[in-house]
Amino acid sequence: MPRLTDDRPSVALAVFAHPDDPDVAAGGTLARWAGEGTDVHVCICARGDKGSLDPNADTTELVATRRAETEEAGRILGVTGLHWLGYDDGELDDGTELRGRLVELIRRVRPAAVIAPDPTAVFFGQHYINHRDHRAVGWAALDAAAPAAANPHYFPSAGPAHRVELLYLSGTLDPDAWIDITGTIDAKAAAIACHASQVGDPGEWLRGAVRQRAEEAGRQVAVPFAEAFRRIELP
Ligand SMILES: [Zn+2]
Repeated sequence: MPRLTDDRPSVALAVFAHPDDPDVAAGGTLARWAGEGTDVHVCICARGDKGSLDPNADTTELVATRRAETEEAGRILGVTGLHWLGYDDGELDDGTELRGRLVELIRRVRPAAVIAPDPTAVFFGQHYINHRDHRAVGWAALDAAAPAAANPHYFPSAGPAHRVELLYLSGTLDPDAWIDITGTIDAKAAAIACHASQVGDPGEWLRGAVRQRAEEAGRQVAVPFAEAFRRIELP
């Protein structure tokens, strides 16, 4: 049953693979929470070095551009902490190393809520395979949040244990919680537009596309614009 949620975590941490992912997946929610006083942190695991199909692209330059784009988008959304793990695109693996780094970050930032990609989503319709980086980060973030971060015996040198209360999984095929982003849809579109290296010169087309997707989610719960998640309340 579709339902709106009005959680307002004191601290939130969004963990995603690529520089533009958090804005596309949850930009409206992050901006809303930041506007309501949540301390919003974003972790980008990969550098975005393969975000170009041009064989002659200077990837060092691309990484620097994408970092600047992400910082600008973060300012629009009200992100207070941006954390870069620095992996190469396509080389994120759901293993002990990535999980340990996420546990360390969770214990340092101490979020009540973690947002991450739903790793169980593989096929979207008949034309899109979810990027393996998204799946790898999703599993690593889930396993870092529970049980690892909350149990001092996991990664004992990664700081004092911390219990995450809520998980929101984006890009999910099984949404069960919707967040009303009517007040922040423009901020979401503006944040996505910052990623010019990925979206080109976006103009009205991009704004329209972002609004349309949020409108479709909003229709499920009778609000103008929404973002949909799978929500897990950890014991
Ligand atoms: Zn991505």
